[in-house]
Amino acid sequence: MPPVNAPYRPEGLLARPLYARVDAAAVAHNLARLRAALPATGAPRLWATVKADAYGHGLARVLPALRGADGLAVLHLDEARTCRRLGWKGPVLVYGGLYSPADTLLLDTPQLHLVITHLTQLHWLAQAPAAERPAIWLRFAGDIHHTGFSAEDYHAAFELARALAARGVVGEVGHLNHYARADEADGVDHADARFRALIDGLPGPVSTSNSAAVLGHAARAATTQWVRPGLALYGASPFADRGAAQLGLLPAMSLHSQVVGIQRVQAGAGVGYSGAFLAPTGMDVGIVTCGYADGYPRHAPTGTPVVVAGVRTRLLGRVSMDMMAVDLGPVPHAAIGAPVTLWGADGLPVEEVAMAAGTIAAQLLTGLSARVPVALAGASPAR
Ligand SMILES: *Cc1c(COP(=O)(O)O)cnc(C)c1O
Repeated sequence: MPPVNAPYRPEGLLARPLYARVDAAAVAHNLARLRAALPATGAPRLWATVKADAYGHGLARVLPALRGADGLAVLHLDEARTCRRLGWKGPVLVYGGLYSPADTLLLDTPQLHLVITHLTQLHWLAQAPAAERPAIWLRFAGDIHHTGFSAEDYHAAFELARALAARGVVGEVGHLNHYARADEADGVDHADARFRALIDGLPGPVSTSNSAAVLGHAARAATTQWVRPGLALYGASPFADRGAAQLGLLPAMSLHSQVVGIQRVQAGAGVGYSGAFLAPTGMDVGIVTCGYADGYPRHAPTGTPVVVAGVRTRLLGRVSMDMMAVDLGPVPHAAIGAPVTLWGADGLPVEEVAMAAGTIAAQLLTGLSARVPVALAGASPAR
């Protein structure tokens, strides 16, 4: 693997100079950092959230770095099978639970944990008892109201779940909540108080905390039995006011390209579709091969930070399908082939690019498209 800023081509292929670099060691570091936020003794166990192919990093690439996790959390049962196929033997939590009665046929591996979000799922389980009894987690609708039981329905669901456990249809029954505002300083107080009051006196383990809750509300997370971080494992900050570096996290993905063309434009000339950027003076514009078909956000505006030859500069005009334009004013020495960092290295966090584009880091990371080759840090590149 060449240094991050050196031109890179997958071996034996004539390729575009655009690639992502995934650093599994950074994931291992971030896992340790999350553990360190929790008490040294009696700490909750940790589900490493690896849905969306490990937030776009590739589960197969990062799994070796997650050996120290207590479990993996995925969206669908099919992904749980992928975890097994890749050699993961520990518990797997399935956030999406069952989408149809046929999904019960997929309950064929041990140590599955299913999130239960409505009563019909419990009926499906009762009618088609699985070969392997899954542990189940009842999800409270909480303050996010995406899926899960309302406060009114929760206790009835718990009684039914307990009856199924008594019949040996399911294993242990736990309690799961997911916060809408864990990234805010006072964002979980009310939500947690409501959830704790709801499950007061009910037996079973409790899980409430994603990355923002573990890092921002550690004392509360520490009173639960399982935490469920995702984003922070990949080195992005969940907070608007604190960067990943401040949190001691290392970016696990960086996106690199090159200047593949230089346009000298006159004052008043438009750059890109619709002339969304008009050159105020004569200027040098670098054309970078990376566009929205690669997963770079099309709605990133002029001014979105980009690093060219180690120097921070800015995007100009509209991002197009395969390319974008950047200001070479701060980098007059940049020539064709100059290295470009789009995010994740050279002091350019993915969350800063996301913020400039009006989105979040997780969308950029999960949105990297299949046509972008990925180089694994410390290993030979693969397409
Ligand atoms: C995605 C997800 C998580 C992980 O959230 P991050 O903000 O990425 O840490 C945790 N719990 C549930 C239910 C999720 O869907």
